[in-house]
Amino acid sequence: MLYKEFLKKKRACPFCRLSNQVIVTSKLSFLTYAVAPYTNGHLLVIPKRHVDSFLALTPAEHLDIEQLLEKGVAIVKYLGYSNYSILVRNGNNHQKSVKHLHYHIIPNHRIGDLDATGQPRTVLTKISELALIKTLKAVVKKCGFISDDRPSKK
Ligand SMILES: [Zn+2]
Repeated sequence: MLYKEFLKKKRACPFCRLSNQVIVTSKLSFLTYAVAPYTNGHLLVIPKRHVDSFLALTPAEHLDIEQLLEKGVAIVKYLGYSNYSILVRNGNNHQKSVKHLHYHIIPNHRIGDLDATGQPRTVLTKISELALIKTLKAVVKKCGFISDDRPSKK
């Protein structure tokens, strides 16, 4: 069955009703597997509370999810995968099929080779790089973010 057909049959949020698919549970989140995996070993870490953005998580939920992501990575490594990507989609883009926030742990996923249109990635031109830097610094200033440029202690 195609994943998009599977989703059409789901009326309620599929992540609010998981039970026998949960592999590891913690106080505020759980770890499960993807029913329509990108690759073998594709896992998901999902907060128990239905939120649609990682910005809506409490500090305790962030920490809980981080600890479960570490366990998920350990499982993926135990399965024999040394390379993996952790992916979380935010917002309402067409690629996010379930609105309930979820973090993907995807072994051996070659995200890095292609751009969002499926074409080989290209390096920014110097002109577009300078424009991007200018835009990002303006946004950082507008947001009031303070940049700590001191070297980190090792
Ligand atoms: Zn939900």
